[in-house]
Amino acid sequence: MDICPICKSDDVEKTYSIGLRVLVCVILLFVPFGIFFCWIPFVFPYRHVCHVCGTDLSSDQLLRMDWREKEELLKEHQHLEEMVSPFLGKWVKDQEEGIFKVAKGKGQIFLVEIQGVRKVTTYRVVAYNEQNNVPEIKVSPKVGAKFRHVIKEAGDFISFDDETEYTNEPSLTELGKELLTEDEFNHIIDSDLDIDDWLKNLCMDQQKIKIDILAE
Ligand SMILES: [Zn+2]
Repeated sequence: MDICPICKSDDVEKTYSIGLRVLVCVILLFVPFGIFFCWIPFVFPYRHVCHVCGTDLSSDQLLRMDWREKEELLKEHQHLEEMVSPFLGKWVKDQEEGIFKVAKGKGQIFLVEIQGVRKVTTYRVVAYNEQNNVPEIKVSPKVGAKFRHVIKEAGDFISFDDETEYTNEPSLTELGKELLTEDEFNHIIDSDLDIDDWLKNLCMDQQKIKIDILAE
């Protein structure tokens, strides 16, 4: 089993640049003696992309794991989820008054930050600590293209799982549907509503939390 060394996810896909390889091969055929080396594009090593953190990887960077090691990894993930579980589905405020929702989607735990009308950023939760009774969540801003958007803007073409959808009005992406409720979404896209006021009320009685956004 191939595992991404950055986020330990197995959602890793080989990127088939087969079209480009064929193109280079055809071009080489027109070069003098090109017929002798037109096979070269096909022996270049393949790249891999991790859908969860978006890292581009070569084959030798991938971690190869058997099911036992994978089980250990799963336990670690479950442990993180247990630690974060009191906050799952809740809105929290961080030390800099930023407002985030802690939510689970596509098997990963995310922080969704709302900075204003339609201004949403997703982060991946990577660790949880408690220091002097203050919970601390560490997150990474590195999120794969598939998991980066929670809102599809009107007129956007966004491809999800080989499905390209065209939208006339903003809607929640597949991940967005798991992370946000319809009601939350309607507040986020409505510029007539006072979003700051709404957000403040959402996490009024929540305890403060320290959020540490790791460098990439
Ligand atoms: Zn990854």
